[in-house]
Amino acid sequence: MTIEERLKSLVRDVHDFPKPGIVFKDISPLLANPAARLEVVETIVRHFKPVLPDAIAAIEARGFIFGMLIAEGLNIPFVPVRKSGKLPYKKISQRYSLEYGTAEIEMHEDALPKGSRVIIHDDLLATGGTAAAAGKMVQHVGGKVVGYSFLINLSFLPGETKLKNEFGVQPHYLASF
Ligand code: AMP
Repeated sequence: MTIEERLKSLVRDVHDFPKPGIVFKDISPLLANPAARLEVVETIVRHFKPVLPDAIAAIEARGFIFGMLIAEGLNIPFVPVRKSGKLPYKKISQRYSLEYGTAEIEMHEDALPKGSRVIIHDDLLATGGTAAAAGKMVQHVGGKVVGYSFLINLSFLPGETKLKNEFGVQPHYLASF
């Protein structure tokens, strides 16, 4: 079985969550499977080792789960990107558009030394709005986005193209729907 087949067998489709018309990709079955989880982490770590990242920035909340395991595997600092109002210290914010309305994410202003090579991780790439907002914050504090990592890409949405155009990197993901 390829890693893509294995991952797909461990992602559960939940229809009409969190609202009608959305098919939510639930990674709970993957989290419950230590062998598959390890294979996922090892595959991502192997891909990013040659990229020589200085840090990984991961997006709350599901990005934290594998983000820290990847940070561990690469032996690099983990930087939390959080929803508005959660980080305690001095921070920068980035607002971005959702289908209806806007959302905001934040990062500590001292999270990265200037010139840091940073990969950004989240569980899933959809429109790319969240990941692009995280990328802008990395750049704002003087870092360079050298990679994007996701478990899942929704290929019927423009996230992959958006990140390629705005950050000049090909997002890495293990399974595409
Ligand atoms: P986007 O900003 O549109 O790329 O959305 C990505 C963010 O929303 C990620 O943090 C995902 O976890 C979450 N997300 C969007 N669509 C889905 C979906 N169909 N299933 C699970 N999570 C999703």
